[in-house]
Amino acid sequence: MGMQPLVRAVNVTKAFGHNEVLKGIDLSVESGQVVTLLGPSGSGKTTFLRCINQLETIDGGRIWVDGDLMGYREDGGKLYRLTDRQIAAQRRNIGMVFQRFNLFPHKTVLENICEAPVVVQGRKRRAVEQEALTLLERVGLQDKPRAYPNQLSGGQQQRVAIARALAMSPKLMLFDEPTSALDPELVGDVLAVMRDLALSGMTMVVVTHEMAFARDVSDHVVFMDGGVVVEEGPPKEVLVNPQHNRTRNFLQRVR
Ligand code: ADP
Repeated sequence: MGMQPLVRAVNVTKAFGHNEVLKGIDLSVESGQVVTLLGPSGSGKTTFLRCINQLETIDGGRIWVDGDLMGYREDGGKLYRLTDRQIAAQRRNIGMVFQRFNLFPHKTVLENICEAPVVVQGRKRRAVEQEALTLLERVGLQDKPRAYPNQLSGGQQQRVAIARALAMSPKLMLFDEPTSALDPELVGDVLAVMRDLALSGMTMVVVTHEMAFARDVSDHVVFMDGGVVVEEGPPKEVLVNPQHNRTRNFLQRVR
């Protein structure tokens, strides 16, 4: 009860062929915490995020989300891979927002948001639609339920993608560079929605290059480089007074 972190990763390793991308990542995220993953391109941030919800299969280590061992069942000290169906069920507790919003192009905003709760969770469409309208208000798009994705700006589409993820009532939200594909003038609205979500108590892990977001919104910053966590801590420590050269060099380049 409140004792175990919502996300716990221990010694996570992952390679693509001979390319060792994650070399033993440890991470704990407390319930309600916002953690940002920072680091140079290619350091393994996105891969690690995808490992948390099993979009990538890890080679070693363990990841628990809300006490659930992701991807495996442990029995007598041995790990057994879960079925795709069981993994899909685990993933349902986790919302993910990608760099590209991948909304269904032939469905309206409302249909995009209601699809998974109705089809996957088997909930009543009427009730889901009511909730979807509330979610649209929350992301500032209450006037857009009937719009199609191509009638929206990238920033609006991304906010629909956030609402769509929230419609599944996730325990955890993962964000993979959610603003990096957007025109600069559209970034602020998306970050504002993420900030509101953080204030509402959602547990979030965010890969981002937005230093202001990392500094002002996150509780904990993790700096990765070369597949390892180089340094982590409160933003005021890691961003203001980094202890490692690699962190200092990175921060100088992104500022
Ligand atoms: P970051 O998010 O920090 O930019 P990534 O996790 O995207 O880093 O990538 C880390 C490394 O893993 C890179 O060398 C990248 O080329 C490699 N990589 C990522 N995904 C794949 C994949 N599906 N197949 C092969 N290599 C991959």
